[in-house]
Amino acid sequence: MFSAARFCVGAALLTVAVAPAVHAQSIGSSKPQYGTWGFDIAGEDKSTKRGDDFFRFANGAWLDRTQIPPDKPGVSLRLQMTDRTEARLHDLMEQAAAKASLPSNLEGEMGAFYKAFMDEDRVEQLGAKPIAPELDAVRAAKTRDALAGLMGRNNSDFEPALFNFYIDIDLKNPKQYAVLLSQGGLGLPDRDYYLKPDFAAAKGKYESYVGELLKLIGWPDPNASARRVVAFETEIAKASWTKAQQRDPVATYNPITVAQLEKLTPSFAWKAFLANADLSKVRRMIVAEKSAFPKLAAIYAKTPIPTLQAWAAFHIADNAAPYLSKAFTDTYFEMHDKTLSGQQQQKVRWKRAVYAVGGGDFGVGDRFGTFGTLGFGVGQLYTAKYFPAEAKAKIEALVANLKAAYRKRIEKLDWMSPATKKEALKKLDTYNIKVGYPDRPRDYSKLVITDDDLVGDVRRAGAADWAFYTGRLFGPVDRSDWSMTPQTNDAYNGSLRDIVFPAGILQAPIFDANADPAINYGAVGGVIGHEMTHGFDDQGRQIDADGRLRDWWTKSDAEQFKARAARLGAQYSQFQPLPGVHVNGDLTMGENIADLGGLTLALDAYHASLNGKPAPVIDGLTGDQRVFLGWAQAWRGKVTDDYVKKQVVSDPHSPRQFRVNGVVRNIDAWYPSFDVKPGEKLYVAPDQRVHIW
Ligand SMILES: [Zn+2]
Repeated sequence: MFSAARFCVGAALLTVAVAPAVHAQSIGSSKPQYGTWGFDIAGEDKSTKRGDDFFRFANGAWLDRTQIPPDKPGVSLRLQMTDRTEARLHDLMEQAAAKASLPSNLEGEMGAFYKAFMDEDRVEQLGAKPIAPELDAVRAAKTRDALAGLMGRNNSDFEPALFNFYIDIDLKNPKQYAVLLSQGGLGLPDRDYYLKPDFAAAKGKYESYVGELLKLIGWPDPNASARRVVAFETEIAKASWTKAQQRDPVATYNPITVAQLEKLTPSFAWKAFLANADLSKVRRMIVAEKSAFPKLAAIYAKTPIPTLQAWAAFHIADNAAPYLSKAFTDTYFEMHDKTLSGQQQQKVRWKRAVYAVGGGDFGVGDRFGTFGTLGFGVGQLYTAKYFPAEAKAKIEALVANLKAAYRKRIEKLDWMSPATKKEALKKLDTYNIKVGYPDRPRDYSKLVITDDDLVGDVRRAGAADWAFYTGRLFGPVDRSDWSMTPQTNDAYNGSLRDIVFPAGILQAPIFDANADPAINYGAVGGVIGHEMTHGFDDQGRQIDADGRLRDWWTKSDAEQFKARAARLGAQYSQFQPLPGVHVNGDLTMGENIADLGGLTLALDAYHASLNGKPAPVIDGLTGDQRVFLGWAQAWRGKVTDDYVKKQVVSDPHSPRQFRVNGVVRNIDAWYPSFDVKPGEKLYVAPDQRVHIW
């Protein structure tokens, strides 16, 4: 369950599936995907005032006529991009599976893995048997130390852990990797689900779910055990930091030796844990939520061993459920997809197979990332067929223009001192922009995949994934690395001072080689700008040009920045996606700053791209209008109410309508472009608008 720290543009939604109608964007066609110049005017709602709700103005007719499919928690143009990729991956996997032979190369491995997932009869026949080794180990672990040891297998098998661990660069020594430890142990998406009355219903369903899974694996006294498991997790939730607290890179950087860690959490068997994680040689680690650690260890020490065993057994079944028989997958769907995301129908099997094999955006559930998949290998096969070289060149040119626009903005900032500006520009120059797919493919040649052992395939792929990270732990940092698969419909700004745009996000409406440039500037330009400004947001600004966690801002610059950020946060905290449900301005701070910066830079870069000539008017719309519409169309979509409730507590991105409305109202050029007047709902007086970049 490895997951790298990163700041991204926001996945379309992590559990998605195909709508056959959008299968068809053909490669090499010369017509844009939407409308005649890249924007679908028919999707606008002209009866909505632009100054009241710009998101709805740009997208309302489409929103009204588009239903959320029952097998998804939402619908959007971004999701349709994922659908397109999914259909292509499906073709690739079907073709690979049809070539009957033992897997001797990457394509063969992909085909065998897919076939193993599709072999429903065998999966059905096996029931819970494939996870017997993990469950037997839990039954045999009769001490807390033995159970702590099993947790060390969290990144290489299905076991849960009270403390999550992963490997990323050491932020105060960015030429080296470090083992990072953070709070874990919860099965629901956030501590709020255990502690806030709004989530009482979901928590109740979770308890039933724990009981059902325990029953399916033949655990004694499943309902009483479930009650104790959820009570244990509730104690963990109370001791856990909030998601907003976890965003502070200084507070979460606490280097510690193994001996110090043992002292901080005396009742926890770290040596057994580290040995099973293949980290015995590690002497120094970095702890994130340091003050929570002794509390978590104390809760662990006082919890009866049978409860801890039931907890471990439940999580093993939960993590493995997508690969087990129908009884498991149905129960899993009811909890994770229906209750927590509002998705009404389970996806058909081939779609789940594509996710299981493909990883990343195509991982089963959002806890998986590339764990237990062939994610990067599938990406290699995908981009070879579906990512044209000219798209890469066009994006690289856009990136260069955005970078130049940012440089100019920083040079002109009235609130930043020359010393800080110098460092900021230095940092901007060191950014490594990665487009499409990694230069160096991941090697899967030693991985054993067979077409008759699905759980074994996942287990071995998970172990191979973790071995990849532990294998380089003591070596030099690889700046060419990617932590998102090429087929992923997302982008990120990573700890390697890199900005990464996988092939999966470089599709219409985010990027359309045949669209009017203003639309592309508004959409992909806004996304590129978004990722660039992450390097300078409330988190990123604490990292210097060498990738080191260091305060390089003068005190007054930092105060100016924080004051502006706080004003933006206050605006967002006012937004209510549902009556009484507020956006968390602190949790979403970094993403909101990035959205505002991103569209600001995109507009500048578009102006610069005109080389002094006036922008063409198309269908009566000016260049600036089309840039704003391009951004608004990129976020066209809607999700279920349950998904919104989950999003506001667990996702650092604001709900989509505010990613449009919250941004445009702070950009001066939007007002004359759409004749927005005082009194309209989004109107902000000029001196109240927040300008950061
Ligand atoms: Zn972001």
